[in-house]
Amino acid sequence: MNDMSFSMDHHWLPFTNNKLFHAEPQMFQKAKGVRYWTPEGREILDGSSGLFTCAAGHGRQEIAEAVYAQIQELDYTPHFQRAAPISFKLAEKLAGILPEGLDRVFFASSGSEAVDSAMKICLAYHKAKGEPQRTKFVSRAWGYHGVNLGGTSLAGMVGNRRDFGGVTCDVVHMRHTWNEEQRFTKGQPEDGADLALDLEEICKTYGPETIAAVFVEPIAGSIGTVVPPKGYLNKLREIADKYGILLVFDEVITGFGRTGSAFASQEFGVTPDVMTMAKALTNGAIPMSAVAVKREIQEAVISSVQADRPELMHGYTYSAHPVACAAALATLKIYEDDKLFEHGKALSEVFLDGVFSLRNLPQVSDLRGYGMMSGIQLTPGDTPGAKGSIVQRRLFAEGLHVKATGDALIFAPALVSTEDDLAAMVDVLRKVLGASDL
Ligand code: PMP
Repeated sequence: MNDMSFSMDHHWLPFTNNKLFHAEPQMFQKAKGVRYWTPEGREILDGSSGLFTCAAGHGRQEIAEAVYAQIQELDYTPHFQRAAPISFKLAEKLAGILPEGLDRVFFASSGSEAVDSAMKICLAYHKAKGEPQRTKFVSRAWGYHGVNLGGTSLAGMVGNRRDFGGVTCDVVHMRHTWNEEQRFTKGQPEDGADLALDLEEICKTYGPETIAAVFVEPIAGSIGTVVPPKGYLNKLREIADKYGILLVFDEVITGFGRTGSAFASQEFGVTPDVMTMAKALTNGAIPMSAVAVKREIQEAVISSVQADRPELMHGYTYSAHPVACAAALATLKIYEDDKLFEHGKALSEVFLDGVFSLRNLPQVSDLRGYGMMSGIQLTPGDTPGAKGSIVQRRLFAEGLHVKATGDALIFAPALVSTEDDLAAMVDVLRKVLGASDL
């Protein structure tokens, strides 16, 4: 089983310092529930639901069986006037939990593909409505929207753009919403809604008729969980409406119960025109993502093309892959049968209390959190941005997997966690973040 007789020379690891990894490999061999095991058999608690993917816990039998059965029944379907019934069933199921009216669904395989698909849908919509000059996008500092060229252009985490020269899309950034006064706020900060007026300023500067869409994560995830101030998303909605700009919520992390509702959009009571989702859609077991759009957006694009050709000349070989559809349907059934979104909401108070109990530790400079996601800002070391990876290694050695980003940790356990699981995770955090020698 644990055959470790392989060369590590050939696999170029993503998002990883490969030299450091080779010196000190951190591998997972097995996973079940909220636990990983290393090839040596050491147990590691999973404090980030994989990568915000495995909301229902690892190794779900129901998903494994659905995938196995689907490969035997129909392993692949082509596009170009072909489809499989299972993709319609999945889209219909999703429509049942998506915000009212946002019930037309386009499938892809990753969050990055969903973001770039959403950008192209926004452009196609404006063209269909006779406004092809709306080609500019607005996003936000500290935002993360995947790594394809559109998403890299939208990225407000500058490190994600730095190495890739001039990227193709025309993007203007708003400010992020964090400030010093918000430190140690549990839930939504009271002040800061007016930062949405950045969108109004951008409209004045560039002309609203040039802007296609504004992309935001309702809670900025990858930077370390930055929760929107009360009223901020509502204000973005108002300004976008005033100027005919599409509002896009990137719910790749916040979707599927992470905030306490199916989607953050419902949790915060603001409905976007377009929404991206991925990760927990299949509980991380099979790659899949989706873009949900308002009915009128799909209708406008479809009715604008009279000729017998695809209305949206866009898609991927693996869009609506039947095996991914089967995994997603099995996942949504688990969420529904086990009432996992409700469970996550109920667990959130205990979770956030645990996180905020770390407040006075020497390595903690800020805590943020909402629902079942939190950000632990670390006291920076001599090299800004380096503390996260030091702490991440120390946590791994102590038996906890948590994703680090710069000087922050993103602690977001699975929705199936028990109170004991959470307490065990917080204990490891307390031990490591209590150290003064980091
Ligand atoms: N958007 C957001 C908000 C994300 O958090 C991520 C992944 N962390 C992506 C897009 C990209 O997803 P993927 O890595 O599946 O391409």
